[in-house]
Amino acid sequence: MPMNEFALIKRYFERSDDDKSDHGGAVVQAPAQGVVQGIGDDCAVLSTDPDYETVISTDTLISGVHFPENSDSRLIAQRALRVNLSDIAAMGGQPSAFLLALTLPELNETWLEGFSRGLREVSDTYSCPLVGGDTTRGPLSITISILGTVPRGRALFRSGAQVGDTIYVTGYLGDGAAGLGLLDVPIQGDGSEARSVDYLQKRYWQPDPRVSEGLILRDYASAAIDISDGLLADLGHILRASCVGAELTMASIPLSAPLIDTGTKKEAITLALTGGDDYELCFTVPIDKVAMLELKVREGLLSAFRIGEISAKEGLICRDGSGTVVDFSDAGYQHF
Ligand code: ADP
Ligand code: MG
Repeated sequence: MPMNEFALIKRYFERSDDDKSDHGGAVVQAPAQGVVQGIGDDCAVLSTDPDYETVISTDTLISGVHFPENSDSRLIAQRALRVNLSDIAAMGGQPSAFLLALTLPELNETWLEGFSRGLREVSDTYSCPLVGGDTTRGPLSITISILGTVPRGRALFRSGAQVGDTIYVTGYLGDGAAGLGLLDVPIQGDGSEARSVDYLQKRYWQPDPRVSEGLILRDYASAAIDISDGLLADLGHILRASCVGAELTMASIPLSAPLIDTGTKKEAITLALTGGDDYELCFTVPIDKVAMLELKVREGLLSAFRIGEISAKEGLICRDGSGTVVDFSDAGYQHF
């Protein structure tokens, strides 16, 4: 079987303290002092200050792979920065600044005008300035590296979930993947179908990084991840990192009205579980903190939907309304 993205990273780039031998691949990451979290979470965490830690992450968008060629440059920029902010949110981080590595096929000022405007809009909204980067010529690709901060010892990791914890997501799932499938559909008129398509396309291009939620979740969550590759795949990362299993109640997965309007209920739930591009957070909360967390939700300080529970039995089980187990074994976007 060909290697997937995660096996590739593990084989060639990950390195543990007790395994410093070369596996036949080019092992490049040496263990270093001050690395609180290396490869394997939404961000790396570096100990840079007596009081604060730095969270840092990078993501690339390639034309024709992550967005259709000839897309609006303002939207490309917005999406690129928003998905990076989402990884900071998943760690409970406060965004500080970002770097932009831009590869352009040509110098097109109209394109650059839109791109820089889109970038500024998001950068201003999240008080996260552009502080450097690199510009080269080649097929269009955008790489953003982003930094944030967390008070020492307060970052949220994928590895903290415990048996009995309640599983939540911060918002509607499936919209991003549905929006991606509808990017070519023109918005005509302002009927309900046009409004649904418009909403779903916006959810793809302008995902809402849950930065303020992440800051609140530092006080409540035992584990967190942002949903870029689909709920089942990304919750799967929490389960593997925490050595636990989970049971999900499919009827509790939050679905938006536009998502349900544009297809069948079954298509909506499949997109919610296995589609990517939502950039909501999935997080777990220990039983003694659930009541306080839900109070925050009722006070309107946090958006969170309870979707299941962490269990001791390894694996991820989805139950429908009648309690029957449903199989979604082929879940999640794989780059390879
Ligand atoms: P995310 O979806 O949160 O961006 P990924 O699934 O892309 O995370 O990556 C999983 C983990 O592997 C992350 O910790 C990421 O930093 C790390 N990673 C991905 N590609 C590489 C690489 N080429 N070298 C080292 N680490 C990598
Ligand atoms: Mg992530």
